[in-house]
Parts: sequence; structure tokens; C-alpha cells
Amino acid sequence: MEHAKKCPVYKKCGGCRYQDISYKKQLEMKQEQVRKLLKPFCKVYPMVGMENPYHYRNKVHAVFDRRPDGTIISGVYEEKTHRVVAVDDCLIEDEKADAIICDIRGMLRPFKIKTYDEDTGYGLLRHVLVRRAFATGEIMVVLVLGSPILPSKNNFVKALRKLHPEITTIVINVNNKKTSMVLGEKETVIYGRGYIEDVLCGQTFRISPKSFYQVNPVQTEKLYAKAIELAGLTGRERVIDAYCGIGTIGICAADRAREVIGVELNRDAVRDAVRNAKRNEKKNVSFYTADAGKIMLQMAEQGERADVVFMDPPRSGSDEIFMASVVRLRPKRIVYISCNPETQARDLKYFTSNGYRVEGAYPYDCFPFTGHTECVSLLTRN
Ligand code: SAH
Repeated sequence: MEHAKKCPVYKKCGGCRYQDISYKKQLEMKQEQVRKLLKPFCKVYPMVGMENPYHYRNKVHAVFDRRPDGTIISGVYEEKTHRVVAVDDCLIEDEKADAIICDIRGMLRPFKIKTYDEDTGYGLLRHVLVRRAFATGEIMVVLVLGSPILPSKNNFVKALRKLHPEITTIVINVNNKKTSMVLGEKETVIYGRGYIEDVLCGQTFRISPKSFYQVNPVQTEKLYAKAIELAGLTGRERVIDAYCGIGTIGICAADRAREVIGVELNRDAVRDAVRNAKRNEKKNVSFYTADAGKIMLQMAEQGERADVVFMDPPRSGSDEIFMASVVRLRPKRIVYISCNPETQARDLKYFTSNGYRVEGAYPYDCFPFTGHTECVSLLTRN
């Protein structure tokens, strides 16, 4: 396997922890990390890597700033700081998205758009977020502004689309808070539909700016296929898809289940999920907007049952209210998808002390060159 290409800013950016290491060696190191954490519970299968581990990220986020000499830069925060490191192209980000961000930067001066200053609150443009749907080619650009008005916005849209006609929607997001969150609440669509559509495992999904969507679609398809296989569905099951985002896993599994219930905290994601179920003609799928733990507790208290629970929590993992309620719903199988093997190990410990055993862990490299790993584990009831 080839050796990693070089990135001039990798030390400052901190994103690619494994920059200097061949891809083959990265996979071995990640495998070893997962094995160490999960071997007390089960067999850890070989990590599934990528054929081409570059430019896999379909979502690119750039923060904008002005140097003391007036030069406008865009890039990432230096690790653990709010200093901006200029990045024009990145080894793991989608190249088209990077090109769009560079061109937006070039448009700022002619359009007299100032970059936002985090300390003083002056200026306008804070961040740009670009998402590209790899299967359909649709591209979404989100301009994160410190205040709602983009001067000459129609001309701006025209000029940007002239450079990149592939852009299918442009959204203004207003974030006027002193916060490290990129996106604010308020959104205005200034071009297109306000969302993009991608195809994953043969199903079409709409994705809104604030909804979560897996950043590496190539690996996600393999991961979901494994997760659904592990669920062992026969068409008779009542399935819960917890932390469901825009409904991807539940909708992909719906044809093999009797009923699917999705649970998700983010309103915009649930709105997408409901439309996605309809769009893909899944009549047996419904969604709740709520904290997953709360809904599971409610279901447990009403004496409800589930046959299979998919859970795909954020990096911080799940919580005891959620897990205790899952145990009360007595599913035969729990398919636990995790982007952080440390919190997964902690949560597996809870389940194994409460009537479940772990049948196996299947790691996927969804984040080449970074220190992150995805892993799906199957639990069955004793
Ligand atoms: N399964 C989806 C999303 C996984 S990411 C997919 O594969 O695309 C985790 C999701 O959990 C995010 O959409 C996030 O909004 C949601 N989330 C975070 N905390 C939550 C909570 N307490 N209850 C329900 N959903 C939560």
C-alpha cells in the first residue's frame, strides 16, 4: 500500500492524526485499539478499510478569518484553539467542496463581504458548510452569517452558481451567538430546495443543513449492510431505530421488518426522516422527536416490547436511562453502531451485566487518517 501524501498543515489542524502512517498500518493500529477495548466482551473481526482512503468526506466545514495584513483566509481551527489555520485543499475532504470554499473566499472582496470577528462580533461571514451527495451529485452550500442580511444576495448566488453549476441549493444560516457551535437556529433558503438528496443502500434520503448524515457514504453502505444482516430480520419484527438521524438505518431495514420506530432528538432530522419514509414508500415506519432515553423509558413503562433495537448514539455513547429501558423492552437482539469504541466498551459492559452477551464486533474504517473508528456490535439476550 502507498504511503500517505503530505499535508502542509496537518500538525496544526490535528484532524489527521495518522498522516505519516501508511494506510495499511493505520488499519492495523485501529484494529488493535478496538481489539484491546472490546476483547473482554467478544471476538473482534478484521477492520474493513477503504480501497481509496482519500477525499472521502462528503461534508466540509470552513471557518473564515482575516489576517492582520487584510488577507482573507478559510480553513480550520488550530487544534484546541480558535486560531484559524488556512486550508485550501485537504487529503480527506471532497475536492469539489474545497474548490467551492476557495471560490467563495475569492468572492468576498468584490462583494464587500467582511469576515466575522469572533472577539468583536463585527463582520458577516463566519463559516461555510458544503455537503455533496456522492450518489446524485447534488451540492448544498450553507453560508453561516453573524447577521441575517447578505448584501446583493441574488448576484452572489448567480456568481457562485456560474463558477459551480453543480450547486443545487444555497442556504443562509444565522449564528449571532458567541459559541463554538457552527450552525445557528435560523435559516433562509436563497437558492434551490434547501436540502440535497443522496442515495444510500438503494434508498433516497433528503438531508437538511442541520441534520446529521454519515460523512463517508462508501463505508456507510458497508456498515449498514452489516448492521442489518446482524439484526437477523425475518419480516415479523418490531424494530426500534434509536438515534436515527434522517432515518437511514430504519428505512433501509423496513422491508425486512413488520414495524420500525425511529427516535431522534433533532427536529430537522426527524422532519427529513418522515419525508424519507414517504419518499421510499415505507408505510411501516414512524418517528418520534425526543430524547431516546425518555421515549424508551416511556415504552418500557407502558409494558411495550421490541424484537430488535438498533442504536447509533453520538460519540459520548448512550446513557443508563436508555440502556435500562432497552433491557426492559427485552429485544432478542441489539445492534449497537458506534463511532467511539471507548464509550461502546463502557455501554457493552452495562448490557453484559444486564442479561445480554456480545456476539461479535465488526469495525469499519469510516475515517481514514484520523484517529476515529466506527464499529458495529451484536448483542443477544441470554
Ligand atoms: N443513525 C443515524 C444518525 C447517527 S448520529 C445515521 O446513521 O445517520 C447520532 C444521532 O443521534 C444524531 O442525529 C443526533 O441528533 C442524535 N441524538 C443525540 N443525542 C440524542 C438523544 N439523547 N436522543 C435521541 N437522539 C439523539
